[in-house]
Amino acid sequence: MGFTMAIDGPAGAGKSTIAKLVGEKLGLIYIDTGAMYRAVACYFVENNINPDDGEEVKKACDSIVITIDYYDGVQQVILNDRNVTPFLRGEETGKMASRVAKLGAVRSKLVSLQRDMADNGRIIMDGRDIGTCVFPGADIKIYLTASSAVRAKRRYDELVSKGVACNIDEIEKDIINRDYEDMHREISPLKKADDAICIDTSGMGISEVVDKLIEIYEEKNS
Ligand code: C5P
Repeated sequence: MGFTMAIDGPAGAGKSTIAKLVGEKLGLIYIDTGAMYRAVACYFVENNINPDDGEEVKKACDSIVITIDYYDGVQQVILNDRNVTPFLRGEETGKMASRVAKLGAVRSKLVSLQRDMADNGRIIMDGRDIGTCVFPGADIKIYLTASSAVRAKRRYDELVSKGVACNIDEIEKDIINRDYEDMHREISPLKKADDAICIDTSGMGISEVVDKLIEIYEEKNS
């Protein structure tokens, strides 16, 4: 029987780290929808598409084919037969993803793909509109959040550990801007679904959040 756990929340709240771990523990397939918006952003950047030009956007949407594959259990995003997964995580791609995520044509294309992927499967999907729009009837809805300062510090530590030079104030500014864009767009803005359980992870470690979600799952299935 199908089962859907929806995880929504702002940038850097730890959604993908947590969803991946919870998915492994509960045998749910993890689907990262942000990576799909990032793949579309990648196409727009590489092909110099202006997101404000309706004609160009329509043409681009008709030409984009996104498929999702799994290698060793890790999600791969294939954009027109090319695996673009290694190119998706950069800050510029994230900013462009927020711009293309405002476009109705892009959203309807990706939402229908996301619904098809869940067909009868047992999945945990993270994003911004999973509990409000993609699966309003999800079995469990979680809204993960944390203060912008904590989210910026996590991102800063991650970049520093990879040897990337960065400035924590700039990172926090970018996070606040992206939250604003995602929460104030016209179509499917980021917001907590009325029936979602909100978890503020500011003072929590990863394993604590994972345990909390597993507890919620077990309660639901007891
Ligand atoms: O989660 P991630 O940072 O990879 O998402 C990149 C961008 O894609 C977000 O800032 C948001 O604008 C958009 N997005 C969305 N709906 C989703 C997932 C991501 O609008 N379900």
